[in-house]
Amino acid sequence: MQQTPYVPCPQCGSTDIKKVGFTWWGGALGPSILKHVKCNACGKSYNGITGKDNTTGMIIYLVVSIIVGCLLAGVCILIFELTGGYQF
Ligand SMILES: [Zn+2]
Repeated sequence: MQQTPYVPCPQCGSTDIKKVGFTWWGGALGPSILKHVKCNACGKSYNGITGKDNTTGMIIYLVVSIIVGCLLAGVCILIFELTGGYQF
């Protein structure tokens, strides 16, 4: 039996766990930070280290990335305004 570094599924107890590489909410980075894994037996996804649901972490990640995105967009708009915009 293949050993995984992750805790067994909190929902069905299966050890057939795979790492989630990409999610709609976190892209490729989010699930990596949150140790997001998915149970192959029942489809439950959770934190592979703590065995807890990742919903809270997911929301925090989403909120933080939205804030960072807004800040970056704001900075870009500011630079654009300061430089008077690009004239073609
Ligand atoms: Zn399961």
